[in-house]
Amino acid sequence: MGLQQVESFVAGEWVKPGAGARAIASAITGEVIAEAGNNALNTGAMLDYAVNVGGPSLRAMTFHDRARMLKALAMYLSERKQALYDLSFLTGATQSDHLIDVDGGIGTMFVFASKGRREMPDGQVYLDGDLEMLSRNGTFQGMHVCTPLQGVAVHINAFNFPVWGMLEKLAPTILAGVPAIVKPATTTCYVTELAVKMMLESGILPKGALQFVAGGLGDMLDRLGAQDAVAFTGSADTALKLRSNPVFMRNSVRFASEQDSLNASILGPDAGPGTAEFDLFVKEVSREMTTKAGQKCTAIRRIIAPEGVVQPVIEALSARLAKTVIGDPREEGTRMGALVSEGQKRDVLEKAALIGSEAERVFGSDDLPMDGKGGFVNPMLFHCADPDKAERVHDTEAFGPVSTVMGYRDLDHAVALANRGGGSLVTSLITRDGDVARQVVLGAGAWHGRVYINNADSMKESTGHGSPMPHMVHGGPGRAGGGEELGGVRGVKHYMQRTAVQGSPDILTAIGQKWVPGAAEIEGPAHPFTRRFGDLAIGETIHTKAREVTMEDIEHFANFTGDTFYAHMDEEAAKRNPFFPGRVAHGYLLLSFAAGLFVEPNEGPVLANTGLDGLRFMKPVEAGHSIAARLTVKHKTPRNDEYGEVRWHVTLTNQDGDMVAEYELLTMVAY
Ligand code: NDP
Repeated sequence: MGLQQVESFVAGEWVKPGAGARAIASAITGEVIAEAGNNALNTGAMLDYAVNVGGPSLRAMTFHDRARMLKALAMYLSERKQALYDLSFLTGATQSDHLIDVDGGIGTMFVFASKGRREMPDGQVYLDGDLEMLSRNGTFQGMHVCTPLQGVAVHINAFNFPVWGMLEKLAPTILAGVPAIVKPATTTCYVTELAVKMMLESGILPKGALQFVAGGLGDMLDRLGAQDAVAFTGSADTALKLRSNPVFMRNSVRFASEQDSLNASILGPDAGPGTAEFDLFVKEVSREMTTKAGQKCTAIRRIIAPEGVVQPVIEALSARLAKTVIGDPREEGTRMGALVSEGQKRDVLEKAALIGSEAERVFGSDDLPMDGKGGFVNPMLFHCADPDKAERVHDTEAFGPVSTVMGYRDLDHAVALANRGGGSLVTSLITRDGDVARQVVLGAGAWHGRVYINNADSMKESTGHGSPMPHMVHGGPGRAGGGEELGGVRGVKHYMQRTAVQGSPDILTAIGQKWVPGAAEIEGPAHPFTRRFGDLAIGETIHTKAREVTMEDIEHFANFTGDTFYAHMDEEAAKRNPFFPGRVAHGYLLLSFAAGLFVEPNEGPVLANTGLDGLRFMKPVEAGHSIAARLTVKHKTPRNDEYGEVRWHVTLTNQDGDMVAEYELLTMVAY
């Protein structure tokens, strides 16, 4: 069989490897299986295609359109994942590693698809935060809007997750409305290529939304400008080289980096041998050491345990690691496959030797598995007796199944050791003690992108120390790169510009497609509850007639509901309360009366009241006062094929026109 020719997708065409192509070897046998790269890559054409073809098509869509595309892509890939698994074995990964890479990547797309539909508008502008009142009478206000960058996102990924690495960056980028050029690490780019081919052949994405580079990027990065973003995962050295590119600095090219990380796991002082937490700790640490043969940016490199428990930890971990079946990842029963290449194997062994200069190896032999072929190494556990004096154990990332146990004297010491990593992606803590957890988060939070706390209560459903969740921020300070990815809508914002917009309520309503108090009220042709989702206009308003609130109403409501709180029932007691002039109406009575005032009783397009947001009672209502309601269509969000959510802005005013309550009412309305 000839070598696999890993192609690049350049301005709509697949381009074969050419001059400068690099050879790619199987992680299992070390034999060359493929080649990738082409020095003659037309980077200008790629950028042009992304910016002038992909960008405009993506930006013409709404967040919901793009979220639907992500879901369709995720489903398309999901139906074809066996082919991705089959190819991925050659990277040294086992079937359970594929679940993290392939299924994890597809799952990440599903989460962004769902968050895009639920948390972002079916529009082109995302509003970030609340309105800001910039004037006394509200005729001039401010808001923050996010709109997609008008350039391209270049994604440079690491070798360890050829599928997840691409999809976790692609999902927020596409949802934002920005075209992407994906450049995976060359060593495993043949797997990424297959996933890209699937996505392109699906025809789901508009032209220009996705391009692919196998091999080097040529001069692409030197051509980037003010609307472009680079997201990088890989080594600190490469990150430094890239971030110091003068073009990036001159043009303020966004650069996010997720790099080496000396992650730690702390065993809480309460979680000694014999506790469920101790067993959990041992299980999590050994799993993190051996999954993906330790080639995980989040893997536990430093194991921090109370001094008195170091020995039991070493014994329990060694016993567990001894059960690791190393071998051909395609064979059933194999628990740990190979490192990605012989080069990585040499690197890991060198780094382990460096750690060994300060720590004693307590598990793992020198003999290489599989007769030294391919990227196979044994798990290695070290013990560092003086972690305060040691340096290498805190700054050397052996990117394989290598970890170091160290003891701590007290919790402050544990935190100080965890922070010696100089900034990490994740630190975990195994404890049942809330005070311990709080102390660790206060002391270590600023040094770690994620703090993962687990114990017997949460262990069955916990997601694992090493798994970045699409809902949660992934990235970390300092040594970890100072970048941030994922985190739900936060991750999408990395590919958008946040702009402060100031203007009158009418202007802000027109831009955000959310009615701003003070903007024009539209009188519809009929009661809004008789109008279908598509017919309702933002700003459509009704004003109800007024209704008097009597003492009989208050007493009736109190006795009927059982809410006989003294402020409604006892004149003298109510007067002693600083908020009330005497007996007042229940807030919920006012809400109920308001519903009675604005509701249209007949069967119609309003299907259900699904909630109420931001309720505030501003002024008490006494017997003899009257209230009236104003109901305005604030915002509309399609939900499914049958109905969408209408968010109404409601105010209740008294006989003097003073506002007594304000809230947002949520209803589902048929199309
Ligand atoms: P690199 O930093 O060498 O490579 C990461 C990515 O950057 C690859 O896609 C690589 O492409 C690309 N790249 C390298 N040089 C340039 C350049 N000058 N311009 C543009 N792109 C470039 O990391 P490796 O993947 O080789 O891994 C090396 C070490 O990094 C590991 O041993 C480990 O310590 C660490 N690492 C950390 C990870 C993390 O998530 N924290 C993940 C993976 C690795 P190409 O492959 O074509 O060179």
